[in-house]
Amino acid sequence: MTEKGDARCEICYRNEAVGGGSFRTNVENNMVKSFSRVGEVIQSTQADGSCEEVNLEYWDFRFSNYCNFKCRTCNPSYSTSWLEDAKAMGQYIPDQGGWKNNSEGRVKLIESYADKVKEIYFAGGEPLIMEEHLKVLNLLKDKKRFDVKLRYNSNLSTLNFKGNDFVNDFWKQFKDVVISGSLDAVGEKSEYIRSGTNWTQLDRNIRRLVDGKFNLNFNITVSSLNVFYLDEIVEYFISVGHIKPNKHEPHRSYGFIYNVVHFPEFYRVEHMPDAAKKFCYNKLKTYEESFQKRFEVKYTLFDEVFNALNAKSNPAMFEDFKLYTIQLDKLRAESVSKTLPELSQFFD
Ligand code: SF4
Repeated sequence: MTEKGDARCEICYRNEAVGGGSFRTNVENNMVKSFSRVGEVIQSTQADGSCEEVNLEYWDFRFSNYCNFKCRTCNPSYSTSWLEDAKAMGQYIPDQGGWKNNSEGRVKLIESYADKVKEIYFAGGEPLIMEEHLKVLNLLKDKKRFDVKLRYNSNLSTLNFKGNDFVNDFWKQFKDVVISGSLDAVGEKSEYIRSGTNWTQLDRNIRRLVDGKFNLNFNITVSSLNVFYLDEIVEYFISVGHIKPNKHEPHRSYGFIYNVVHFPEFYRVEHMPDAAKKFCYNKLKTYEESFQKRFEVKYTLFDEVFNALNAKSNPAMFEDFKLYTIQLDKLRAESVSKTLPELSQFFD
């Protein structure tokens, strides 16, 4: 509102600096334009941020951190499944924020605004396995509010919950459903990086959403774990029909975005040894060139990633990354050298 930067927005600024979009720019470019009352709300907001009349048109509720995955780049603040591993690793366990779940109060609040709402964003944890998410969908269905836009951030591990099939029982009736799936790798690499993944099931769910012509896009969290394998994800998107590159497109099709990891810092791709960065750059560049030739397109695929790779490295961080990866391997009976050999060759 004041047009001044804020230190709390650091992650968005960092994503924008390497040439990617951010939650902040998404809100500015899409959301602000779609709400008619923005000017009115700004006018009625006091200098301390308070506002007397709140007509909630856009809801962004994280009901809890309940999640069935324990992705390597995540932590217990966002996923309940991380708790045991975090304890075993002697990590700090937060006792507030995600752990306190006032879901009943939030559902009641939502009920009282159910006639005003225009758009709801569900994230988590994993929203599709949350009771509260189902309650909200039933509430909207009962009120025949199929005009409400639904947006999701999901790991897409399941499309069913408590006997309800989200596709058939809900989403097909709503006018606008936007699903952002998280995908950091393909096959067993996905199962290793995003622990909890059953690749066969995930692949089936993705194909179902693609075939159902849902408005589907993907967030790829780019870290030292998966940066070597981003070409495999693009190839997977082509194989399931999620992206269809063609020579008339001026830009990369909007089927996926990169979230380059900034924290924990040791996961940043910039901290890899020079030899690893070079190996990775060459692999992705070779793929990009063959992609351009194959589909006769001029646009590039990995600019944000190359920018991140070019940033100054801190070798001590890569040492921390190795230790952390090996420690998690032991705890989870997994093996980086078996699953990610292109990466582990730089561990010696
Ligand atoms: S699915 Fe999302 S919330 Fe769950 S562990 Fe992975 S990154 Fe964290």
